[in-house]
Amino acid sequence: MRPFALEMADTPAAATNYATQSAGTYLAGGTVLLDLMKLDVIEPQTLVDINALADTYGAIEADDDGITLGALVRMAEAERHPAIRRDYPVIRDALWQAASPQLRNMASLGGNVLQRTRCSYFRDVSWPECNKRAPGSGCAAIGGNNRRLAVLGVSDHCIASYPGDFANALVALGAEVGLRSADGSERRVPFEDLHRLPGDTPEMETNLVPGELITAFHVPAGPWTRRSLYRKVRDRTSYDFALASAVVALHLEDGVVAAARIGLGGVAATPWRAHEAEAALTGRPLDEAAAEHAAEAAFAGAVTHGGNDFKPELGRRTLVRALLEAAAMEVLP
Ligand SMILES: Cc1cc2nc3c(=O)[nH]c(=O)nc-3n(C[C@H](O)[C@H](O)[C@H](O)COP(=O)(O)OP(=O)(O)OC[C@H]3O[C@@H](n4cnc5c(N)ncnc54)[C@H](O)[C@@H]3O)c2cc1C
Repeated sequence: MRPFALEMADTPAAATNYATQSAGTYLAGGTVLLDLMKLDVIEPQTLVDINALADTYGAIEADDDGITLGALVRMAEAERHPAIRRDYPVIRDALWQAASPQLRNMASLGGNVLQRTRCSYFRDVSWPECNKRAPGSGCAAIGGNNRRLAVLGVSDHCIASYPGDFANALVALGAEVGLRSADGSERRVPFEDLHRLPGDTPEMETNLVPGELITAFHVPAGPWTRRSLYRKVRDRTSYDFALASAVVALHLEDGVVAAARIGLGGVAATPWRAHEAEAALTGRPLDEAAAEHAAEAAFAGAVTHGGNDFKPELGRRTLVRALLEAAAMEVLP
C-alpha cells in the first residue's frame, strides 16, 4: 500500500471539487478500491470519502413512474426494501446473490456498478501483460487461463469479463444513471451507455467525465418488472462471481411475449443487454423452442478462447432456464 491523501467531502460540491482539482478517487464502501490498492493494481494519490453524502444520495424512492436508488444506498438496504421485493424482484435477486452479507452491508450501489474485472492477469501485477492495467502491454488472458472470462463484447486487446450482478438488472430494465459534475451540473444518461466496450482502449471502462459523481439510478416502471428474475450460475452456490447469469423481465399477454427485457452477466465485457434475444421473443408464445431460439440469438456473436469455450452453451442454458422460470412465475396483479 502506498501513502495517499484522504479528503472528507461533506457536500456534493466539495466531493466533485476534490475529485476534479486533486484528481481524487471517490471512496464509498471501499470494498473494491482498497482491495485494488493493497494489490498495487491502482495507486490513487487522493481518496475523496463520500460517505457523509448519504443524506443526499442514500435514499430509495418509489412511485408510479419507477424507482430511484441513491448511489450511496448499501446493497443490503436495497435488497430488503419492500418496493424492490414486491415490484422489482430481479433487483433483489441480483443483490442478494452477490458477494457476502458482510460485503453487502458495506458496499454501495454506486461502487457496485463501477467494480473492476476479476481477471487474474489484471489483479496480479506480477503479470506484465495486461492492456487494461498497463495500456499497450498485451493481453496474457487471450492465450492463458481464460475460463472465467468474457465471450461477448471482447476485442483482440482484452477479454476481461464484467463481474457484477446488479448492473445486469439495471441495463436490462432500461435504467438511467444520474451524474453530477464539478461545475454543479447534473445529467441523466442511459445506464447502457455508462460502460465502454474494450475495443483498443480497454483501460477506459466508462464514459464518465473525470470527477463525475454517480448520484442515483432511475429504473422506469413497466408491465414487465414484477415478472422478473435473475439466475446466476457459478462454481460455488454462494460467495462467488457468475460464470453465466441471466436477467429476465417479461410482459406476457395470454402467454405471448408482449415485451421482454433480457440481460446477461458473467459472459460479457460490460453489463450486457441482449437486444437480439428480446427481438426474437417478442410476439411469440413463450415455450421451450422460443426460449432456445432467443438464447441462440443472444450468443450468436460469441468469441471464445479455449478455456472459456463452454461459456456460450452455459449462457444459453442459463437464459433458457431463466425465461421458462419467469414465464411460470406467479405474479401479483
Ligand atoms: C470477495 C468479494 C466477492 C464479491 N462478489 C461479488 C458478486 O458475487 N457479485 C457482485 O456484483 N459483486 C461482488 N463483489 C463486489 C462488491 O459488490 C463490490 O466490492 C461493492 O459493491 C463495491 O461497492 P463499494 O461501495 O465498496 O465501492 P468502492 O470500493 O468504494 O468503490 C468502487 C469504485 O467505484 C467508485 N465509486 C464509488 N462510488 C461512486 C460514486 N457515487 N460515483 C462515482 N464513482 C464512485 C470508486 O472510486 C471506485 O473506483 C465482491 C467483492 C468481494 C471483495
